[in-house]
Amino acid sequence: MEDVDFDELVASLTLREENTAIKSYQNTVSVTCPACEDPFDDLVVCKENPTSLNLSRQLDLCVGSVDGNAVIFTHKR
Ligand SMILES: [Zn+2]
Repeated sequence: MEDVDFDELVASLTLREENTAIKSYQNTVSVTCPACEDPFDDLVVCKENPTSLNLSRQLDLCVGSVDGNAVIFTHKR
């Protein structure tokens, strides 16, 4: 993800949830995923290491890392 301007990417997203473990953003403007180049649904930034994600449905995930934090791009199937 070296070529991705993460701050710019996040600026296009809508913050939906933040807690001590994660920050999650909703992709309301169809920003493309830096990993697979399909638009993703949500972006989750893991603030704790390790962090558990409680996924409520089956998702395809793309994973990267920014400033030492894991970032996860979710795609609905
Ligand atoms: Zn992806």
